[in-house]
This record gives sequence, C-alpha cells and structure tokens, in this order.
Amino acid sequence: MSDRTGLLEKAHVLDEADPLRDFQDRFLTPDGADVVAYLDGNSLGRPARALPERMHRFIHQQWGQRLIRGWTDEWLNWPEAIGDRLGRAALGAAPGQVVVADSTTVMLYKLARAAVAARPGRREIVLDTDNFPTDRYVLEGIAAERGLVLKWIETDPAAGITDEQVAGAVGPDTALVVFSHVAYRSGYLADAEAITRTAHRAGALVLWDLCHSVGSVPVHLDSWDADFAVGCTYKYLNGGPGSPAFGYVNERHHGLAQQPIWGWMGHREPFTMGPGYQPADGIRGLLSGTPPILAMLPLLTGLDMLDEAGIEAVRAKSSLLTHYALELADAWLFDRGVQLASPREPERRGGHITLRRADFREVTGLLWQRGVIPDFRAPDGIRIGLAPLSTSFVEVHNGLCALHQLVDERGKP
Ligand SMILES: *Cc1c(COP(=O)(O)O)cnc(C)c1O
Repeated sequence: MSDRTGLLEKAHVLDEADPLRDFQDRFLTPDGADVVAYLDGNSLGRPARALPERMHRFIHQQWGQRLIRGWTDEWLNWPEAIGDRLGRAALGAAPGQVVVADSTTVMLYKLARAAVAARPGRREIVLDTDNFPTDRYVLEGIAAERGLVLKWIETDPAAGITDEQVAGAVGPDTALVVFSHVAYRSGYLADAEAITRTAHRAGALVLWDLCHSVGSVPVHLDSWDADFAVGCTYKYLNGGPGSPAFGYVNERHHGLAQQPIWGWMGHREPFTMGPGYQPADGIRGLLSGTPPILAMLPLLTGLDMLDEAGIEAVRAKSSLLTHYALELADAWLFDRGVQLASPREPERRGGHITLRRADFREVTGLLWQRGVIPDFRAPDGIRIGLAPLSTSFVEVHNGLCALHQLVDERGKP
C-alpha cells in the first residue's frame, strides 16, 4: 500500500511541475465524470473547449453570411494555408510543401502512386509486416495495379523498423520505401533520418507515415530530406473524428511526381472548367476534389494549442508520461504475467506504450466498464496512449491502478 501511495504522490509532484498543466482545462470532459482515465488520445484526441464557439462562429459568420463567396474569400486557400501552419508547428517543413485534404488512406495512395511513377523501371516497394493495415493494403493494391513487387521486412512487433534492416532490403530495383515513423503498436520511434539516407543511397524514394508522431514527436521532414509524408489529424492534433489528412511533397518533386487522382481542385485553373487536365504548380497539384472545410475547424484549434505549447515541450512531457507509465508497470504488472511490447530506451519511444497479456482482450472490456479507456490491439495488447496536452500524471496513475487491480483479481491467465 505504501508503494501505491508513493507512486500517487509522485504523480501529483509531476503534475505540479508540468509546464503544460494548464492545457488540460482547454479540453471538454465528459459529463458526470464517467471517464476515470482517457488513455486513447493517440487514437482520437479530445475536443477543445473553444471548439463549439469556433464552429458556431464559422457557421453564422462565414458560411451563413458569406455563402458561396466564402470560397474565394479564403476557403480555397485553406488546404495550403493550414498545411503551411502544420508544416511549421509539427513537421519541420518549409511553406508550400504540405496540404490538408482527403483521408490518410487516400493521401497515401496518391503519394505512393506518384512516387513509383517517378522511379520508372524500378519494380519494388519495400515495406514492413507490422505497419498499420491500411498502409499494407494500399501498397498491395498499388503493386497489383502497377505490376510491382512488394518486398516485406519482418519487424519485431515489440520494436520497429531499423536502418540495418532497410539497408539489407533496398537495392537497384527499389522504387519506394514506406514506413511509419512511430509504430502504431509498439510506439517504436524509427531513425527516420538514417533510413531516408539509406534508401536514397539505393536510389529509392521515401514516404513516411506520421500518424502516430505528428503533434507528439518532433518531425523534421526537410532536414531528413524526406520525399513524401502523410499523416492524420484526429490523433494528437485533436482534429475530431474523420478530420482530413495531410500530405507532404518535398519541393524538389514538384512538377515531376504526379498524383493519380486528377480532379478539378488540383487543376491549374479550376474555374476555367476547360478540356484536359493540367496540374496546378506546386503542392496544390496534390488536391483532387472540394476540400472538407468544416472538418478543418477543430484542427485549427488543435494547431493553436500546439503553437502555444511548442512541439519540444510536448515531446518533453510525452517522454515523462511514458516513463512514468513504465514505472507503474514495473511496480505493478510485469511480475504478474504482463509483458512490455514497446522499447525501453526513451530515445526509441514515441508517445504510447503497449502491454501484453493473454487475457487483455477481455480486460480491455472490463477497463472500459470502469471508465478507463485504453485501446486494444490484437492479438493481446493494451495500448496506453498518452496525449501530452490533455493527459495528467494522476490520470495515468489511476488508469494503470485499475489495470493492476483487474490483473490481481484475475490471477495469472
Ligand atoms: C490512424 C492511422 C491511419 C489511418 O488512416 P485513415 O485513412 O485515417 O483511416 C493510417 N496509418 C497509420 C499508421 C495510422 O496510425
């Protein structure tokens, strides 16, 4: 019991010392306090308290007043303008290389197709077995469509893709390599700069999936010399369910790498409505159809908060959160049949950790009943996602304490 008190005290001390502590009040919390610990902000971030007012204002003052004129007032520029903001706040990307549009899946398809078309004659796409399903499926589809070959790297699901593995897989026939910067299961943080260099040395292009890093781990697309990147905005960026994705195309590929969905919004002159597709210059050519303006409003609120907090401070808190979660697991879980399926080294860890035990599918259901909301990842992983702006150390304590009690009640499976 004294052990437990000590760890709770520690959570209070960490919360006291947390420079981002005040951000917790910027989020809406469920009525009636039925949520004890939200440990899934890496799957769906919480809504900002400022959001209803912002949506209300937009509907009344912009949509309601400006009507169709809103498009030429400013909405047509939102994909690039918000892309630039995102590039500056979270991606290490100079202006003119990021757009907000589509879903991650569709954007990934467009970028991967553009990439393989930019490496004619090369027949291989290198990917890994533990990437997120949509990434694997989209690349399977492209391989089938273009007559390409997928070269699979077997990744350890408790770790992730290493530079050595990539060096052993790429060669003169590699057109493209696609990996996640932070692995969706283990939270492994790949050495993106080294892997990009290794792929380039073989003449291949690189596409990074940033879904689990954007807004949590600093990303430096320009200085890594990345070619393409994609990510979603509803995880650590609090963009809301189904908010649009972003796509990054390094400036050196503009006008050369062509995406496959030729729509009017990516046309050089959309309102001429003339015959024949001509892509717009620059990143605008990555657009296809009408951008989802309403669905970008929560992202603006998320970016306001990220700008204010700063990504380096967010990362610093994120590292403390995962460190503290590991400390609790060390005290309470690893001697009870629970295994860590995430890296212990802080520099290889993203913003979440995964814990495994044979009965964790069932345990997840029981946790949800008790107001503790992590994610379950097949076959037996509970993923503890720790969104730095909205999660307190006491919340982590209370969530893992509930897990500890359940594990104790049930005995070893
Ligand atoms: C969440 C996530 C996606 C989601 O793709 P959608 O098209 O938004 O459903 C894709 N890739 C990774 C690595 C993810 O974590």
